[in-house]
Amino acid sequence: MRKQITILDTTLREGEQTPGVSFTIAQKITIARLLDEVGVDAIEVGDPNVSPDAQAFIERAAGMGLAAEIVVHCRACDKDIDRALSTGARRLAIFLATSPAHLSSKFGYSEEEAITAAVRAVEQVRAAGVPVRFAAEDATRTGRDFLLRICAAAVAAGADRISIPDTVGVLTPDDARSLFRKLSSRLDAGLDTHNHNDLGLALANTLAALEGGAGCAHVTVNGLGERSGIVSLAGLAVALKVHYNVDTVAIDGLIELSRLVEEFSGIQVPANSPAVGAHAFAHKAGVHTAAVLKDPSTYEAFPPELLKRERSIVIDKFTGRSAVRARLRQLGLDPDEKCLKKVVAAIKADAGKCSYTDPELLALVREAGPVSATPCLETGCLQP
Ligand code: ZN
Repeated sequence: MRKQITILDTTLREGEQTPGVSFTIAQKITIARLLDEVGVDAIEVGDPNVSPDAQAFIERAAGMGLAAEIVVHCRACDKDIDRALSTGARRLAIFLATSPAHLSSKFGYSEEEAITAAVRAVEQVRAAGVPVRFAAEDATRTGRDFLLRICAAAVAAGADRISIPDTVGVLTPDDARSLFRKLSSRLDAGLDTHNHNDLGLALANTLAALEGGAGCAHVTVNGLGERSGIVSLAGLAVALKVHYNVDTVAIDGLIELSRLVEEFSGIQVPANSPAVGAHAFAHKAGVHTAAVLKDPSTYEAFPPELLKRERSIVIDKFTGRSAVRARLRQLGLDPDEKCLKKVVAAIKADAGKCSYTDPELLALVREAGPVSATPCLETGCLQP
C-alpha cells in the first residue's frame, strides 16, 4: 500500500441518497466545513441536475474557499454536463454504466456505443478546460476486457482519474486487489475505489483495492449511502492507521463529524459501530473489565484516545469486583472487600437490570454498610 492515500468524502452526494435523508443548504455548508477541517482531500458536493437546491449548494461550495477539491457529479450526457459546468465546477465526475444489465436495460447500448458515449462526454468536459474523472458505473459486474477498453478510451480522451464503483457491493477482497493490480498496470490515470456495503465487505474491499493500486478511497460519514451504504470515513481512517500506519484525516475530529451528520441525517449510528458507536470502547464481562483495567490492550484494537474518546465499564450482572472497585474509586470511595462482595452480589441478584448509574451504585454501597471515602473532587457530594 502506498503511503499517500487520498480520501474523497461523498456524504453530500452519495450520503444524501440514503432513504429518508435530505440536507438543507445550511447543513451542507456546515458538513463541508467540518470535512475540510478534518482534512479530507476531496468533497463530492452533488449533482446539480437533481434539484434547484442541489445546484444552489454546488454554486455556493465553489466559493467557500475550502482546501479540499470540490467535485461535481453528473451523468455522462450533454445536457447534464452543460448544467454541471455552469455551476463553476473545477472538477467533474461523470458516470456511465458499463455492465451488461445496465447497458441493455438502461440505454440499449452496445459496448462500442458505450465507448463512443464515454469518449464524447469526456471530450465535452475537457473542451471546457475542466479536469474530469470517468466512473464506469457497476464496473465490478462488467466484463474485465470491456472495462479496461472503455476506461482506456476515457483516459485517451482526457480523463485523469478513473473510478471503479462496486455499485451493488459484490466484490470480494481478492477480486478487488487483483482488479486494481490489473487496472493500475494498464491505465495511465489515478484510480478511485468506491465500495458499497451490501454484503458487509465495503471496508475490506476498499483496503484490498488500495493494496492493489487504487490511490483514492470514497467514503461517507457514518457509512451513509444507497441501500446499505458505503465505507465509513471513520472506519477507513482508523483501519488505515492501525493496520498500515497510513495517516489520512485528523482522526480526533471524526466523532464531532459523526455526531453532526447523525443529527442532520436523522440516521442513528448503531451502538456497535466501529470507532464511532456508543459501545466501541465499552467493556462489560467481568473477565474483560478486570483485564482492561490492568492493560487496555487486552480487549481493545486501538485506544479510545485516538478519537478523543474514553473507555467505559458497564456495571450489570456480568460485572466483577475489580470493575466495581474501579468505578467506586473514580467516585472517591475506597470500599473494603466485604462491602464490595455485598455490592456485587446485589448487582448480580437483579439479572434484569442492564446498567447502573452512579447514584444507583452509591445507593447499593450505602446499603452494604460503612465504607471509607473521600468526597468526589468534581461534585463534593458523593458521601457514602
Ligand atoms: Zn455509490
